[in-house]
Amino acid sequence: IKKVAVLTSGGDSPGMNAAIRSVVRTCAYHHVECIGVYRGYEGLIEGDFLELNARSVKGIINKGGTMLKSARSKTFRTKEGREQAYKSLKDKNVDGLVVIGGDGSFTGALVFNQEFNFPVMGIPGTIDNDIFGTTHTLGFDTALNTVVDAIDKIRDTASSHNRLFFVEVMGRDVGHIALNCGIAGGAEEILIPEEDLGLERLVESLNKSKKSGKSSSIVIVAEGDKIGKNIFELKDYVDENMEGYDVRVSVLGHMQRGGAPSCFDRVLASRMGVKAVEAMLNGESNYMVGLKNGKMELTPLDHAIKGKTKINLELLRVSDIMST
Ligand code: ATP
Repeated sequence: IKKVAVLTSGGDSPGMNAAIRSVVRTCAYHHVECIGVYRGYEGLIEGDFLELNARSVKGIINKGGTMLKSARSKTFRTKEGREQAYKSLKDKNVDGLVVIGGDGSFTGALVFNQEFNFPVMGIPGTIDNDIFGTTHTLGFDTALNTVVDAIDKIRDTASSHNRLFFVEVMGRDVGHIALNCGIAGGAEEILIPEEDLGLERLVESLNKSKKSGKSSSIVIVAEGDKIGKNIFELKDYVDENMEGYDVRVSVLGHMQRGGAPSCFDRVLASRMGVKAVEAMLNGESNYMVGLKNGKMELTPLDHAIKGKTKINLELLRVSDIMST
């Protein structure tokens, strides 16, 4: 491998910049050229490149978002689009590709590899932590800190007014952000897609905590939870079936995807970049780098795409005990 291209694709997450920096500097360390691709696969097709050296990535380790921009590309889903992308890479003499993104981006990378036998490596970048093969995706830890900070602030106003707050957090189809932040923010209930509490039991549980002397309550709702059709219908149900609380809804939204990456995410991004480039230089392809038992490990891309993450049952139990 003489020249590596790096791109960010799909939804952005804090730590992507730190990962770009790490890929670029690891290439420089091993005397391999590196080129950045703007706007994910879209930029790859258009040949929208940026030559990068160790100094071009200064001052970005602490920045949220991605300096290379991210995109979703319909054209890359077509054979013609991918042929064009291959041509762009060949024109620039690139012979390896590092993709920082989620499972959709990895699927694209795998298809690309199978068609053109082009070496690819994946770095998992998403706040949702929904990728198999790593205990932490890039941006997850930062998002947790952002959400806990928001919950703390909401609690101040909740307890000043005897309010019940439903706080919706991101996470797609999984409840990792909700469960962790619910515990850390002292939520009374945590509603996640992996566990169906049911509306009646929710009201029962809130009534119980009210009787036990709590003057305010916070319920964390994962965006993928199906207990209510949506969080506003959930509020209406509880409004109708519970007395004594002023019920409010707060949807945290995209602020969860932004902000300076946490120390954890910066270190993780740096480690993942080194591992991805060095594995590629050692002749590996079609793997995702991940954190397992504190170590950097490779997981075949197809496992990372198909495998499902599991909710931590111990955390579920802890959250139950804490809401006593
Ligand atoms: P996020 O977790 O934020 O959604 P993601 O990487 O899963 O990130 P997607 O939008 O699913 O985001 O995928 C990113 C891009 O990967 C798509 O826009 C498309 O260009 C490419 N891609 C996804 N699936 C395929 C596929 N089956 N074939 C080719 N390209 C694909």
